[in-house]
Amino acid sequence: GTVVIGGGTGFIGTALSHSLKRRGYDVLIVSRKPGVYRMTWSDLNQKGLPNSTTAVVSLAGQNVLDPTRRWTEGFKQNVWASRINTTKYLAEAIKVSNIKPKVFVTASGVGFYPPNQDEVYDEDGPGGDFDFLSHLCYDWENAANLPSHLDVRTVKIRIGVVLGRQGGMIKQLIFPFYMGFGGPVGSGDQPMPWIHVEDIVGIFIHAIESENVTGIVNGVAPQIITNKEFATAFGKALWRPSVVPLPTFAINMLFSEERGKIMTEGQKVIPKKALRTGYSFKYPNITCAAKEFSKIIYAD
Ligand code: NDP
Repeated sequence: GTVVIGGGTGFIGTALSHSLKRRGYDVLIVSRKPGVYRMTWSDLNQKGLPNSTTAVVSLAGQNVLDPTRRWTEGFKQNVWASRINTTKYLAEAIKVSNIKPKVFVTASGVGFYPPNQDEVYDEDGPGGDFDFLSHLCYDWENAANLPSHLDVRTVKIRIGVVLGRQGGMIKQLIFPFYMGFGGPVGSGDQPMPWIHVEDIVGIFIHAIESENVTGIVNGVAPQIITNKEFATAFGKALWRPSVVPLPTFAINMLFSEERGKIMTEGQKVIPKKALRTGYSFKYPNITCAAKEFSKIIYAD
């Protein structure tokens, strides 16, 4: 069957597409730009989903941590609309389709949960109601709601910091860490909910294929670490020191406090539902994950 992926051109979407194709699925990407094996959002709104669609995935979203964009009301509106509207368009396409897909899998973030050094959150943890990013996650998850009579299984994945060589945080940090200028953010004691890109892809596929997976799923590794432990593991894997701290005020200056929180604060999150429903992690701890995403030499 076909898996339709909104935002399938991105960091996670590209890795997910490759993996799905290897497993024999056809992949159709919904993008702002037209192309081969792609449709635009207006194509989707006009023509709907192909009849062969078995799963729909929502991964679109303006990059929150783009350092070239100031955290203005306009940019925040972009961040919001690029997630909520695209997810609603996909939900609408499912509602009006003649042949229903089996499953709708959508992205959300661990920013749903309040930052805390002590609490450990499984999928029943509280949140969604305290700051811009938590409200965003709340609205994003609700945009994915479908009427129950449609009988389409819905899974919402609260994603942690995705670590992989080709994008996200590691792509931004590998140069300073390689030069020996890497280190923790602030005190480094804040938790850092993380997951290797191959495992977030694995969890999306688990959600697509396993009928026992429904509702909220935490998309994080089973090992809870601090920001400092991340910096140490990354430095070690590169054979570099990682002791130069990045001051909190510098992050706040560059990103503004509201989104700087993603780096200066954190939540302890566990993947209870993924484990209970039989997902097994390829990179359960940061040491083995760092070895993989620190490989410098590539035969691309
Ligand atoms: P990317 O930054 O790689 O972007 C995903 C895709 O979103 C892009 O390829 C783009 O597709 C589309 N997009 C970007 N801006 C807009 C916009 N303004 N309007 C419509 N579409 C837009 O994201 P990732 O793959 O890293 O992450 C996927 C999702 O998971 C995101 O929504 C992100 O918030 C969430 N997530 C990611 C985490 C991470 O660490 N990577 C952590 C937590 C959550 P195109 O150009 O083809 O239109």
